[in-house]
Amino acid sequence: MKTLLKNVTLIGSDADSLTVVDGVITALGGACFDADRVFDLGNATLLPGAVDVHAHLREPGYEYKSTILSATESAAKGGITRIMAMPNLKPVPDSTDNLAVEEDLIKKYAKVFVYPFAALTEGEKGERLSDIEALAKRVKAFSDDGVCVNDLKLLEEGMRRVKAVGGIIASHAERKGACDPEEAEYRAVAEELELAAKTGVRYHFCHMSLRKSFRLIAEAKRQGMDITCEVTPHHLTLDLSMIKDANWKMNPPLRKRSDVEASIEALRDGTADMIATDHAPHAKSEKSADYSAAPNGILGFETMFPAVYTALVKTGIIDMKTLSEKTTANPAKRFGLDHGRIAVGERAEFIALDTLGKRVYTEREICGKAVNSPYIGAGMYGFNVFTMIGDKILYKFDEKVKEA
Ligand SMILES: [Zn+2]
Repeated sequence: MKTLLKNVTLIGSDADSLTVVDGVITALGGACFDADRVFDLGNATLLPGAVDVHAHLREPGYEYKSTILSATESAAKGGITRIMAMPNLKPVPDSTDNLAVEEDLIKKYAKVFVYPFAALTEGEKGERLSDIEALAKRVKAFSDDGVCVNDLKLLEEGMRRVKAVGGIIASHAERKGACDPEEAEYRAVAEELELAAKTGVRYHFCHMSLRKSFRLIAEAKRQGMDITCEVTPHHLTLDLSMIKDANWKMNPPLRKRSDVEASIEALRDGTADMIATDHAPHAKSEKSADYSAAPNGILGFETMFPAVYTALVKTGIIDMKTLSEKTTANPAKRFGLDHGRIAVGERAEFIALDTLGKRVYTEREICGKAVNSPYIGAGMYGFNVFTMIGDKILYKFDEKVKEA
């Protein structure tokens, strides 16, 4: 199968076409007269498919919110080709048997690559460590995301065992018993940094959102610690003054404008290594409840690129190359995934952002049952219009991409 993509924009190259033969990129630029399929991308910018290291797919256990099939279709639409799936599931992947349940479903239903996190503690209860040594052979990382491991002795022991198997921990840093939601984050960051320094474990902080947290992480990086952190599209683009209803409720919550500015600074200066969505579908009935009763979490896959592109790239705060590094190369490198290049000889795995056209994100277009997005109704640039993995076209926005 030979596929020609024409009228493409490539970062750092003058080539305006790309040829894929049997799933492998064979040419950048140049004509091709014997293609089986030709797509006109309308000058959309090709990027390697994004790697989202923080997502909640909800299956097994919470299929009424989302399934692996619906979530990975949503990811393909949004331009995400690799997902790391958080373990707050039923059963929690805290043993190889429980992990196998999730692995089987992924094999059966996933449209893009999905890598499960293993839970750090049994049932994510923070009481006993999971079967770290056995799980380490089958997962890229450990996390109890959704909750914080508040027993610091247990966390330290977990760090030592994960360090011994060469693994990495992704932390939902939110200390229980703090005075307010700000202290909950930066106190957990400070305490966990101390333990990470003591044990030497590779450590990753999820969804950092405060100036104080970024300061602590920047200082630890200066001291040479092996730590990274992620920032979400919503913490980069929305603040608490904008909250309208429960579709704006997530954890960590939206912060002050000065913290949004600190998050952007952190992304620019490298304190924040990557962007991750914290994609968290909930049923419509759950989110249409009273704000205080509604669960935390918002959708993220379909709006990561337009939200960040519109707020940060279109305005010149970061460039496309940086956007690509923060969404693909950096997370891939940190979590040991071999992916992130568009070059001759590489397997095709790319997306295409329409940076020229502006359109409004609508509830109707969302893949899956959940519609809990604060970006519904927002006019944005930079939507993904085309996703290709190997020979498969996983998503095509027909208004923009024409088959010639
Ligand atoms: Zn979390």
